[in-house]
Amino acid sequence: MPIFPVTAPTFLKTTTGEDFPVARVFCVGRNYAAHAREMGHDPDREPPFFFTKWAETVINADPSDEAVIAYPSETGNYHHEAELVVAIGKPGFRIPVDEAAGYVYGLATGLDMTRRDLQAQAREKGRPWDTGKNVEQSCPTGRLMPIGENGLIESGEIKLTVNGETRQQADLDELIWSVPEVIADLSRFYHLRPGDLIYTGTPAGVGPVQPGDTVFVTIAGLPSLAVAIGDHTR
Ligand code: MN
Repeated sequence: MPIFPVTAPTFLKTTTGEDFPVARVFCVGRNYAAHAREMGHDPDREPPFFFTKWAETVINADPSDEAVIAYPSETGNYHHEAELVVAIGKPGFRIPVDEAAGYVYGLATGLDMTRRDLQAQAREKGRPWDTGKNVEQSCPTGRLMPIGENGLIESGEIKLTVNGETRQQADLDELIWSVPEVIADLSRFYHLRPGDLIYTGTPAGVGPVQPGDTVFVTIAGLPSLAVAIGDHTR
């Protein structure tokens, strides 16, 4: 039997025309109070937490890409989650909150697509979330914008529409844990390195998509994201 080559590395397109190689994908759970409540949790009692996805889940979804992702197998409730994405550009471990911005290469608009039915079953049974969250093609992401002299974007609208209808709308200043706090906390567990992406959590209003839908995400000050939901995967 021949040995197959491993999957080609994933690159995220940047606004400066470069390719940013994706190393690892970290996601924050329940980082907006209203979303934690809609999922049946008390944000005051349960702090956010992390889970991971493969790098290959990242799909370039700049509006000019006309990206299409398949509707995945084994779900009848595939949900959109609009999120601010942070790209790490410098190695760091146990990073202090007040130095965290210096480890950020750039920011992007992203989606953490989720098999909500499988995630809910896993949660009930105390099982891992992998089949609910680490879904093939589940992280469509807009162009990565290097942070300039103005630094991190800490406020401004985040909004998601499906076929033009607004489903999620919030402000980045509603994040329970800010971007520097997320980086500081995550770096207690992992040696962060260039290429790592952090999906920082979704606001309220998550809901299902169907084949044929078009999902559009905007974050003030960042390039937008557009992706079409294709047919059921084969
Ligand atoms: Mn999420």
